[in-house]
Amino acid sequence: MTSLECTRCGATHSPATLINLCTCGGILYPRYDLAGLRGKYDRNEVKDGPGTLWRYRRVLPVRDEANVISLGEGFTPMFPARRRGPFQPYTDLFIKDEGPNPTASFKARGMSPAISMAKELGAREVALPSAGNAGSAAAAYAAAAGLTAYVFMPDDTPALIVSECIAYGARVYLVKGLINVCGKLVAAGAKTRGWFDLSTLKEPYRVEGKKTMGYEVAEQLGWELPDWIFYPTGGGTGLVGMWKAFAEMEALGWIGRKRPRMVAVQATGCQPIVKAFGEGRSDSVLHENAHTVASGLRVPKALGDYLILQVLRESRGLAIAVTDEELLRAQREIAETQGILPCPEGGATWAALQKLVAQGTVKPTERIVLFNTGSGLKYPELLPREAPVLDPNDPKVLDAVV
Ligand SMILES: *Cc1c(COP(=O)(O)O)cnc(C)c1O
Repeated sequence: MTSLECTRCGATHSPATLINLCTCGGILYPRYDLAGLRGKYDRNEVKDGPGTLWRYRRVLPVRDEANVISLGEGFTPMFPARRRGPFQPYTDLFIKDEGPNPTASFKARGMSPAISMAKELGAREVALPSAGNAGSAAAAYAAAAGLTAYVFMPDDTPALIVSECIAYGARVYLVKGLINVCGKLVAAGAKTRGWFDLSTLKEPYRVEGKKTMGYEVAEQLGWELPDWIFYPTGGGTGLVGMWKAFAEMEALGWIGRKRPRMVAVQATGCQPIVKAFGEGRSDSVLHENAHTVASGLRVPKALGDYLILQVLRESRGLAIAVTDEELLRAQREIAETQGILPCPEGGATWAALQKLVAQGTVKPTERIVLFNTGSGLKYPELLPREAPVLDPNDPKVLDAVV
């Protein structure tokens, strides 16, 4: 890593100290000596690396190997969709399944380098606002690193995720407000208490972990990117991270110029990016009274909105919203036909794909990757639970079994 570069004004900063945003308020991206690595960093070399995102070690931060905090994140499976039920017409569809990650969501990817860097650069206490999964991932990696994590979540965050954060020893607080309100408390505490603020994209290294999804999609498809990528978009870290990864891989000589069209999927109850994209804006307007059961998508205004919108336009992609009913139905369809129980956010990508195919925008024979960003087991309140109760002493007990 050579520097941190501002995505707004282009100013560069030293990666030797812990910083958040550029002085202009822009998001910072880590930069590497890719020209120097070209020809020396062979894409086949990654096969010899660990079965985690750290297989792409030379394009990841952290100077001293001893500071790398890994719990086995990344290098998740990507399954060709089984052509059953509503999946029948899709001949080249893949599901990248992030459920097997530590803490059961892809938030682990971001937290591994972020907590590693916080440790390397001397932080003792980290803090973040979270709609749920980022909080539990931060809590787990902070526990592994021996750091204290302060997690601020909306007071209606799924109970299991709250318990999970507490179990990892984090200081957990429930806030009467959404993630942006939680973010304000973290920013205030960072100033007065000296916590390092780990908020999405306000911190330069979470995006580095999320970008590895882009490296993995390329590696798992034989170094040829797909036609479309469907990504459930909240803060957008993974979407912009993958786009960064594609540019890096081209600079390294690992892939050519072909890029997928990127689709940001949101919920109708919180669709600031869909609105901004439709109106041709370069940033988004806060979505008032945001609500959706897909808590990872409940981000009323993303700090990285300008980067997300840039990626959608550069990739000739688009943004689309689906209702909670549609995404929950899609979640069930994936579970029943694929044997993967996705999170509701993952369900949203399948619902969006079906809509775009119905509209004729996407052909079911194109090469498509859907991101299931976490396990459905983290949202037990959304899963079906009705099952008949049997009395084993009733001689006609099996008559009730259909
Ligand atoms: C956080 C989260 C998202 C949104 O991810 P971003 O990179 O912030 O857009 C999607 N799905 C799940 C399960 C999440 O936890």
